[in-house]
Amino acid sequence: MEEFINLGYLIAVVLFIVGLKQLSSPKTARSGNLLAAAGMGLAIVLAMIAPMERGDNNYVWIIAGMLAGGIIGLVSARRVAMTDMPQMVSIFNGLGGGCAVAISIVELDHYQGMTDLSIGVHMTTLFALFVGAVAFTGSLLAYGKLQGLINDNTLKIPAPTVVNMTLLVAILAGIAFRAYAPTEPFFWAYLILGVSLIYGVTFVVPIGGADMPVVISLLNALTGVAAALAGIVYDSQVMLVGGILVGASGTILTVLMCEAMNRSLWNVIIGGFGGSSGGSAAVEGNIKEISVSDSAILLGYSESVVVVPGYGMAVAKAQNEAHELEKLLESRGVRVRYAIHPVAGRMPGHMNVLLAEADVSYDKLLDLDDANNALSTTDVAIVVGANDVVNPAAKDDPGSPIYGMPILDILQAKQTIVMKRSMRSGYAGIDNPLFFHEKNRMLFGDAKDTLAALVSEVKNLG
Ligand code: NDP
Repeated sequence: MEEFINLGYLIAVVLFIVGLKQLSSPKTARSGNLLAAAGMGLAIVLAMIAPMERGDNNYVWIIAGMLAGGIIGLVSARRVAMTDMPQMVSIFNGLGGGCAVAISIVELDHYQGMTDLSIGVHMTTLFALFVGAVAFTGSLLAYGKLQGLINDNTLKIPAPTVVNMTLLVAILAGIAFRAYAPTEPFFWAYLILGVSLIYGVTFVVPIGGADMPVVISLLNALTGVAAALAGIVYDSQVMLVGGILVGASGTILTVLMCEAMNRSLWNVIIGGFGGSSGGSAAVEGNIKEISVSDSAILLGYSESVVVVPGYGMAVAKAQNEAHELEKLLESRGVRVRYAIHPVAGRMPGHMNVLLAEADVSYDKLLDLDDANNALSTTDVAIVVGANDVVNPAAKDDPGSPIYGMPILDILQAKQTIVMKRSMRSGYAGIDNPLFFHEKNRMLFGDAKDTLAALVSEVKNLG
């Protein structure tokens, strides 16, 4: 029976890996997701069979927990809007961290009085407790920020780097002490838990505004690490490999996000950057508006157009209209491409997913560097509900909270059009000098309606 279970776990792990690989392309992502889910289903069934072998019987608890969790997960996944996905991911991360905390506390309690406990096992469990607790409170706070329940400016801690460094050193010292002195009172485990829960909050508090994607992917990686550590504690290979896959992919994503934001990972960990306030220069000047029909003429008689989608396209669900405009312009001989900033929208890959859903060909999507190269030979760059990712303050204003973040430098194009509903700021909460630039024209309105109107105007051009 044990061989059968281990073989099943191996198949589950292979399904995870193949599923993850398939997620790297929009064409195979759907089947990749299903494969990975099948692997997880298999792992759960096998984990249910495994304790039966040892004569344990907690099935009522396990099945009740699975039913409750499964129903809540299914209902919330069905209800959640695409634009609210990052909040959902944050909650999932937090719950994963919370599970690692629960497992670690149960195990630490179980170790009490054991004389032959290895330091390695004890330390691993304490690390699972620490990482799980940080992921738990950090993710809940990230959820609050993303959902707009917590404002970056209302929750602040003085000297966050000092506070975070002190807490981190205290936690690591506490773990080392408890691991080497396992007979010390259980209170120590709770103390490490308490300080780790606080650190989870203090490390996310200073990060906000445009830097949130980095913290979300880091918390995701931490959840994977916590699961992997719990896998070591339980001697469960499938949990270990699953945790490693999440931890490794989360870490790669964090590094990519750090590069995208031009931030250092160390600064993220000690909470030394970010926020939506700052001494950015006041933006003044006049904006110039453009009508739908003039925009249609400009686009219809261009040679090359770059579309810059952002969060507003997701809110307006305007991806199909964007694709329709693209096809129409291409039928007139205009070369149309899309410039995708790595943090556009509210989750990594957000724009890629939406455009893939609308059947936009993948080879039309330019990443940040390719887009910036292409923009200098572009006639019109048209922004569809993006704001922070095209804000030139990131390049020109050292006082801006987003200073240093690479942007899509659309002012290189001959003409720019920004499509949004008002002069309101984007996620980072800062003004955008692009709107006032002489090359730019504002096309106000909901992105879906405006694109639909543009489509009919371009059709009328003849
Ligand atoms: P922004 O949030 O900067 O701006 C979006 C703009 O869309 C707003 O200014 C808004 O203006 C406009 N908008 C909203 N609804 C509509 C609509 N129906 N029609 C037309 N326009 C609309 O988006 P960006 O994509 O440029 O930047 C993403 C930001 O989110 C970055 O700061 C990034 O760091 C952050 N972030 C990204 C995450 C990720 O993983 N990608 C995760 C968390 C945060 P108006 O209200 O006037 O219409």
